[in-house]
Amino acid sequence: MISCSRKGIEIIMCLFCDIIDGRLPSEKIYEDEMIYAFTDKYPLTPVHFLIVPKMHITSASEITRRNSKYIARIFEKLPKIAKSQGIDSYRIISNCGEDAGQTVKHLHFHILGGTDLGEKMI
Ligand code: 5GP
Ligand code: ZN
Repeated sequence: MISCSRKGIEIIMCLFCDIIDGRLPSEKIYEDEMIYAFTDKYPLTPVHFLIVPKMHITSASEITRRNSKYIARIFEKLPKIAKSQGIDSYRIISNCGEDAGQTVKHLHFHILGGTDLGEKMI
């Protein structure tokens, strides 16, 4: 992923941009021109996939008027994508920042399901 800043050209290494662009392999679930969904490499529940904007957005705290259409697309498509994975009840998690446990700095939503997750959030 290459981005331009006022200081010049900055190259950002991003695992999920590499996955989206096909430079790294992934188990694709869904793709359109704005979003990409793929199985989490280390699933925490029987169904655990990630859904990401194709635009590099660092985290949920970087959503703006300019890029929010990518987020809208994610939530418009999510019910059908989840259904394609055999679930219509699921938990959506987006870790935002280091203390929240965000390890990949490309906004992503974890979709967890396929089992009774209980009422406790954490
Ligand atoms: P975070 O901790 O940032 O909220 O979530 C990052 C997620 O990415 C983790 O659930 C982790 O298992 C997943 N992950 C890390 N590396 C890879 C990878 O190379 N491929 C896939 N499919 N998932 C990955
Ligand atoms: Zn990225």
